[in-house]
Amino acid sequence: MSSFNPEQLANPGVRQLRPYQAGKPITELERELGIKNIVKLASNENPLGISQKVKAALAEELNDLARYPDANGFYLKEKIAKKQGVEMNQITLGNGSNDVLELIARTFVNDSHEVIFSQHAFVVYPIVTQAIGATAVAVPAKQYGHDLDAMLAAISDKTRLIFIANPNNPTGTFLSAEALHDFLKQVPDNVLVVLDEAYTEFVPVAERSPSFAWVTEFPNLLVCRTFAKAYGLAGLRAGYTVSDARIADLLNRVRQPFNMNSLSLRAAEVALDDDEYLQQSVAINQAGMQQLVNFCEQRGLSYIPSYGNFLTIEVGDDAEQLYQELLQQGVIVRPVTGYQLPRHLRVSIGLPAENQAFIDAMVKLGR
Ligand SMILES: *Cc1c(COP(=O)(O)O)cnc(C)c1O
Repeated sequence: MSSFNPEQLANPGVRQLRPYQAGKPITELERELGIKNIVKLASNENPLGISQKVKAALAEELNDLARYPDANGFYLKEKIAKKQGVEMNQITLGNGSNDVLELIARTFVNDSHEVIFSQHAFVVYPIVTQAIGATAVAVPAKQYGHDLDAMLAAISDKTRLIFIANPNNPTGTFLSAEALHDFLKQVPDNVLVVLDEAYTEFVPVAERSPSFAWVTEFPNLLVCRTFAKAYGLAGLRAGYTVSDARIADLLNRVRQPFNMNSLSLRAAEVALDDDEYLQQSVAINQAGMQQLVNFCEQRGLSYIPSYGNFLTIEVGDDAEQLYQELLQQGVIVRPVTGYQLPRHLRVSIGLPAENQAFIDAMVKLGR
């Protein structure tokens, strides 16, 4: 048995892979420090907590948990279709949008292909690319955001997929509808474009792209959305993609039939109609963003202007150390060294008191 080496049995891409670094859980820091009242601003979660309407619906759903979920998610698809003006057969549901991102890659990409994304892009893109054994093409960023011209120039005969997050995480940068539309017109239709709009609800309505309508114009476009951020369902795992119905049909062949569980299906249905909660989420985010921006300006800290529910702040060469010192103060933020931003920390927008706890800890640490 001593010669047994599972590393050699793994797919080549997997051997080089480093696992996704999630935000540190509150319970973990509690265990380590033996303290309570920890503030977590590390995973772009909704600081309002779950909506009361969703909570009530979940309580009812508990009674049916001995049954398998609806493998086709009929009622949720029906709701999404109505709300977003798309057909039900264009929708693919996922156990979080991460699940959908991976599903898209597994359905269409193999080890002979190249996958394009931007420097500082969401780390799930390189992970899924590498796990498949495809070649990642990371295009240098332009002022922290996507350089669409450079991404177009990076397309080769081998390119099968392009990932674009708009707004982008962890930079919060945003591409205008005009710029994106212009880009889509130039991408050949044998290259799929995944437009990941995880933070779109935080973008002013007038500035958002008509992305679902674009799916008709560009059949190679897939638009991804999540319930984890503005809808406050990060712990339940719920997301979806809208695409050409023929693409959805292909995704459905690979998809695990019960990838969304009964609770997340029901919660997402109710959340989609809970306009009051959504408006509150957006309002609390706006106020908190202003609070953090004001702090940065007062203290002379640079930050990347953000369209999301987080602010990425340039703190200097000792970002990793500051992260650790903030932990000692009971404040969890997110180091972004893995995103080639070693001088920055990403701070999710919390409730006013949580943002203040971060500010107070920063001041205490002389920042
Ligand atoms: C948070 C986030 C998601 C959502 O992930 P879920 O799996 O739905 O929780 C997707 N894309 C980006 C860029 C994100 O930051």
